[in-house]
Amino acid sequence: MYHFVWSVPEKGYYWAGDSDDPYLEELPGSLREISYHPLEEYPELFFAFSQLSTPDDILRFANQYGVLVANQNHFGTQGIIKKKMRINDIPPLEYLSMWKNEIQSMRSLVEVWSWIKKGYKSKLGLRIIWDQNKVFFYYGPLNEKFTEEKAIKIADDKGYYTHIYSTWKKGSLIGPAELILQISLNNQLKMVSPRIIRDTSGNLHSYIMPHSLGDALWLQFYFAVTGIKKFVQCEICDEWMEITDINRKTKKAHDKCRKRDWAQKQRVFALCNSGNNAEDIVNETGFDKSRIMKWISEFQSKGGK
Ligand SMILES: [Zn+2]
Repeated sequence: MYHFVWSVPEKGYYWAGDSDDPYLEELPGSLREISYHPLEEYPELFFAFSQLSTPDDILRFANQYGVLVANQNHFGTQGIIKKKMRINDIPPLEYLSMWKNEIQSMRSLVEVWSWIKKGYKSKLGLRIIWDQNKVFFYYGPLNEKFTEEKAIKIADDKGYYTHIYSTWKKGSLIGPAELILQISLNNQLKMVSPRIIRDTSGNLHSYIMPHSLGDALWLQFYFAVTGIKKFVQCEICDEWMEITDINRKTKKAHDKCRKRDWAQKQRVFALCNSGNNAEDIVNETGFDKSRIMKWISEFQSKGGK
């Protein structure tokens, strides 16, 4: 149904150009590209993307998963169409500012979706802003003050989505939050389209394909928002993870989190055994304090002191 291949040059990228707003450039010397299937292999990639913050984080992400749009291999390795690039098709340079805008826009909407899903209604008030007979969506960073510059209008009483606006109680948050998710996703999904792909035996297959990694990330978020794919939060690190029919009953945390958690618990037990108190253990290990307290009481209930 969905098909998407993206690739990363084996040597990866570096930040080139002006240090105020550098852009990603391929490191010289890559002999091959490493291809992968973001939709199948990393269903939670949209979430990881939404959490990126520093230029180093972004570079690490690009080196592992590729750049957002500037990839000539737009049709995937199986695509029969190897489009010749025309002058006006040259993809834009991937400036740091462009990445930051994309990340912030994904992050603000992922927050809205998470808050609805977790029932944190009051938090929605940080992003859904009522101003008399207008409702805005604030997409700026949460540690900055609301400005209309970093906001878009969701609806008003003067003809802009008024038929939906008129069904809301003044000050309500869920309705506008759902509308902004709908409008934003429909806008972002314009570059996801049906295609015909030919397999190695020459048979034709119909697929829906994103044009770039950026589009694929929005498609993943669309799967999450519509419930086409199910996501739960890892009970250890709070990140969203996909739940499938196979792991639905047992999967409550990432395997890597579970392993790390187990190792940390053994270390805390050992420190308890050699007579350290909670404060010592927090200072010694730097682990999350609430988990340390939980393990200490587990240790004590098992007869330790
Ligand atoms: Zn986790």
